Amino acid sequence: MSHTDFPSYRGEMEYVCLGCGARRPGDSLLYTCPDCGGVFLLENTRFDALRATGGQQWRAVFDGRAATRTTALRGIFRYYELLAPLMDEEDIVYLGEGLTPIVEAAPALRDQVGVPFAYKNDGQNPSASFKDRGMACAFSYLKWLCRRHNWDEVLTVCASTGDTSAAAALYASYVGAPLKSVVLLPHGKVTPQQLSQPLGSGAKVLELPGVFDDCMKVVELLAEQYRVALLNSKNSWRILGQESYAYEVAQWYGWDVSDLCLFVPIGNAGNITAIMCGFLKMLDLGIITSLPRIFGVQSEHADPVYRYYAAPAAQRSWAPVTVTPSVAQAAMIGNPVSFPRVRALAQRFIEAGGDRAFQVVQVTEQQIMDSMIEANRHGHIACTQGGECLAGLRNARALNLIDGNEHAVLDATAHSLKFSGFQDMYFNDTFPASYGVHPRPELSNKPVLLLPEDAREGKDVAEYARLGAEAVVARLGLRKK
Ligand SMILES: *Cc1c(COP(=O)(O)O)cnc(C)c1O
Ligand SMILES: [Zn+2]
Repeated sequence: MSHTDFPSYRGEMEYVCLGCGARRPGDSLLYTCPDCGGVFLLENTRFDALRATGGQQWRAVFDGRAATRTTALRGIFRYYELLAPLMDEEDIVYLGEGLTPIVEAAPALRDQVGVPFAYKNDGQNPSASFKDRGMACAFSYLKWLCRRHNWDEVLTVCASTGDTSAAAALYASYVGAPLKSVVLLPHGKVTPQQLSQPLGSGAKVLELPGVFDDCMKVVELLAEQYRVALLNSKNSWRILGQESYAYEVAQWYGWDVSDLCLFVPIGNAGNITAIMCGFLKMLDLGIITSLPRIFGVQSEHADPVYRYYAAPAAQRSWAPVTVTPSVAQAAMIGNPVSFPRVRALAQRFIEAGGDRAFQVVQVTEQQIMDSMIEANRHGHIACTQGGECLAGLRNARALNLIDGNEHAVLDATAHSLKFSGFQDMYFNDTFPASYGVHPRPELSNKPVLLLPEDAREGKDVAEYARLGAEAVVARLGLRKK
């Protein structure tokens, strides 16, 4: 069989509870452990069979698939055997997710920061955030499950105010029957932009008075008692899909990640967990021979994971925090559901890669905004969380956690356009006091109206063009050639 055909290997997936260690078969929908309430990671019990193929051979397989004409292998499932190798080709949903570009920092920005770095633009996914990686996997699994159990209707539900609902609604609308998507939002707590994505995808959008956490509780109750598929972070199939980020980074750098430092924002902590899982799997199979270093980044307005790891190892104790408003809104979470996953994976990462292999740095709201604006003034398309990563890199450098010979890869988790409201507040100096952000005047940018509002009236095209040109010339001080 050629590397570009759909593989015949099938694994067998099991849920493994991080609380009590219980195992359950992967052919039913489970979110938390029925025994202890813990979160799951998924494990392929036939992973050993993959070891028969050497690391070098795996690299050749994945490199070969870059040229595949098999649609199902064109996105995150280029790494099929490492993700959820249950599904058949017909189950796989491909909307162009994954294989997002890694763009080296503009030279002027790189010199300013003092460390070579690149952005991986995960905002260039179909719904403009990395959440699509997880949804592609979760929806492919759902299709497989529906076929297996002959289900004729499944409601997918999620509570969200942003990127999760956008991604879930997009994939559900593409797949169509038997899947239908419902999004539960806290009434009045979402901006028109945040609403527009699930509405545009035709999802049923339900609202409840209250906050996000209230909606989350409702959705969890529904998932316990009805046949609905919960698509929030507790869904471990999403975590699997998000591992693809790690595979892509390794492949881009020729499978040598020893000098890389990855910066990842932490919200519910699903993404950073998935990325660590991905690198550990590659190390296990000899696809890479050493781990990169992973830096989690949190704002001081929502930093429970930072606080946990800031304490000396013997004195660490987990405590959720109360968040205050953060521009890194998609990561503004005080009690991340995936914290047990972080703790488990960080430990494995440090065992395999040493003390410096996993660290968490903290940044201020001011640094996040300044960094996002500066990145985007140098041709990048970072969202606020992407700005958070650049701020994290700067702080790591200042703390001497990283030296000038290493190469950083920053996760721009969403497209800058999703968060343009914060850019507006920065340019117009209209941040509510609770954010504590004071724009640097030299970074502000506003449109300039050249002529009075009624200037067009009563003039023909040629006359108005002359007037407009004169106004441009005067404004820019242009000289005739
Ligand atoms: C969801 C999200 C995050 C946070 O990721 P977690 O997996 O919850 O830690 C960061 N940035 C963006 C744009 C997101 O949508
Ligand atoms: Zn358990």
